[in-house]
Amino acid sequence: MGIVEDAISPSTCNRKARMTIDWQSLDFSYRDCKCHIRYIWKDGKWNDGALCEDPYLRIHIAATALHYGQSAFEGLKAFHCRDGRVRVFRADENAKRLETTATRIRMPVIPADMFTSAVHRVVRENLDYVPPYGTGGALYIRPLLFGSGPRIGVRPADEYTFLILVMPVGNYYKGGLTPVSAIVVDGFDRAAPQGVGNVKVAGNYAADLKPNEMARSQGYPINLYLDAREHRYIDEFGTSNFIAITRDNTYVTPSSPSVLPSITNKTLMTLAKDSGLKVEQRPIAFDELSSFAEIGACGTAVIITPVNRIVRNNDIVAVGPDTGCGPVLERLYNAVRGIQVGDVPDVHGWNRTVN
Ligand SMILES: *Cc1c(COP(=O)(O)O)cnc(C)c1O
Repeated sequence: MGIVEDAISPSTCNRKARMTIDWQSLDFSYRDCKCHIRYIWKDGKWNDGALCEDPYLRIHIAATALHYGQSAFEGLKAFHCRDGRVRVFRADENAKRLETTATRIRMPVIPADMFTSAVHRVVRENLDYVPPYGTGGALYIRPLLFGSGPRIGVRPADEYTFLILVMPVGNYYKGGLTPVSAIVVDGFDRAAPQGVGNVKVAGNYAADLKPNEMARSQGYPINLYLDAREHRYIDEFGTSNFIAITRDNTYVTPSSPSVLPSITNKTLMTLAKDSGLKVEQRPIAFDELSSFAEIGACGTAVIITPVNRIVRNNDIVAVGPDTGCGPVLERLYNAVRGIQVGDVPDVHGWNRTVN
């Protein structure tokens, strides 16, 4: 155990740190908080974890995460609710998904109760950094699990590090939901059908960096990937799931072996059903795009980004209103936000209070 024992001194300066954060101007940039939490897996078991103020860690030069990408992450949020309490949204789902990812790349599993207790410990210690109710912000929570033990032969490491960092993030939409244009980058695939696209491994984002930069340089903030086998079906955007509303009010989203199961998408599907929409998870051909009434990209960071134009070579598919968001996706967006900050009853029991 011994390596993560950095002492936490009861901090008086954090109140001040909090006072100096301009909650309205927060974006998604990294910033240090008071501390992160860090656990080590060695000799077949996890230690008890420790809170660490130093945002740097000492890591072996032969760590498998660095050489072979034996690394996985998660993303979730805590919110300051209307009643003054701080609540974490659906952490149990992140625990389950991390277990799937860890198993796929031969890392030790983190028991669900250890995962949620780690989340609550680190959030509790950083309460001063949770944006106040009404600012539209949240505390972004980033769990990370990776092989930290040395190994050059290609086999799983003997030692793993699990850490959770947090940072305050602002409301992505300052003046209502703003639609974006997306582009299909046919020269690249994000993930193979039986590869690792369905788990949250670090390398999947590296694969998207170049296509995403190419898309951005052409004026498209997000890029859409098609299925790697035929380029006929829609998979997902680089870091968010594809969702659409049909003209007869059905919520559709691709079923594909290479799509990452988004918790936001799962949440939206439940709320869509609650509100009487039909929900279909099925292969969606690229050719179907023009038949949709509304299209969105969904993920924890922004919940829903409306997409009103998708470009592929010389073809442009325009969907939904030119400005703003379509009515169904906007309603679903508001429903998720409402539950997260306690404005709407949490009938599914998705929130957990940080005590
Ligand atoms: C994390 C992620 C998403 C969004 O998942 P959420 O659980 O909704 O945040 C979508 N696509 C990819 C590729 C991802 O890595």
